[in-house]
Amino acid sequence: MATEVAPPRPVAMADLKGRVDPDWCPGCGDFGVLAAVQKALVELQIPNHEVITISGIGCSSNFPGFIETYGMHTLHGRSLAVATGMQLANHEMTVLVTGGDGDGFGIGGNHFTHTMRRNVNLTYIVMDNQIYGLTTGQTSPTSRIGMKTKSMPFGNIEAPINPISLALAGGATFIARGFSADQKHLTELIKRGIRHQGFSFIDVFSPCVTYNHDNTFQWFRPRVKKLEDDAAYDPTNWLAAMEKSVLWGDEIPIGRFFERNDVSSLHAAEPVLKAGPLAHQDLRIPEDAAKSFVDELM
Ligand code: SF4
Repeated sequence: MATEVAPPRPVAMADLKGRVDPDWCPGCGDFGVLAAVQKALVELQIPNHEVITISGIGCSSNFPGFIETYGMHTLHGRSLAVATGMQLANHEMTVLVTGGDGDGFGIGGNHFTHTMRRNVNLTYIVMDNQIYGLTTGQTSPTSRIGMKTKSMPFGNIEAPINPISLALAGGATFIARGFSADQKHLTELIKRGIRHQGFSFIDVFSPCVTYNHDNTFQWFRPRVKKLEDDAAYDPTNWLAAMEKSVLWGDEIPIGRFFERNDVSSLHAAEPVLKAGPLAHQDLRIPEDAAKSFVDELM
């Protein structure tokens, strides 16, 4: 007698609730990012056994412990390197990488650059709060000039990096900026990032309510509104986007995203690895090619 297999039940928020409750400070923006990721997975109906969340070190890098998916809490700044390996090893998994601005743009800046140019198929969500929160408030790569922190008590004297223009120049094929308090919009950005085939970068303003007294929820809100009202902005024009992104400095396009599928016209479609003729758009290695590549190395 044939055994009937019950159809899979729909993915629900409860399935994604981590076994450990977040230890973030009350009001931390990262709560909003966690909720948006969970909602995106529910709305896309991706079951948790098909998802891995990989992080580095920092407040936001505790993320994999707070969501019920596969997870790896790796070394400071090294999450993208581990995630690249994960993606190459199992093409079927949805690979999410989470972390902060210090972890991603400071310690892990080199991996950020190279993972973008390789266009590895993963979604990188940075909880950008312009400060090192876990170590109690030091200047980070995205701290604004003049911002007073524990490590720069007289004000930051260095110009911050602009992650959006860095990603545009670095060849990321999906770039977005969200705000942790704008749940609906952020969920949509994350869904689009997950669906995108290639490297998706989502920079999320996620206020550190304990150590960053400059860039608070109140500081961000009017800027989100201002940019929503800027009808002249055209997200389909990459050159203009880059220009605006640089010109706007800390007012770069919150709530916007850019996606491009014309990677081959921007980067020569050369083989990425000796293993075979891989299109730049897709770093997935066919199994036989991967085997011969490994054999050759041995
Ligand atoms: Fe969030 Fe800042 Fe507290 Fe860390 S220190 S959990 S970033 S509010």
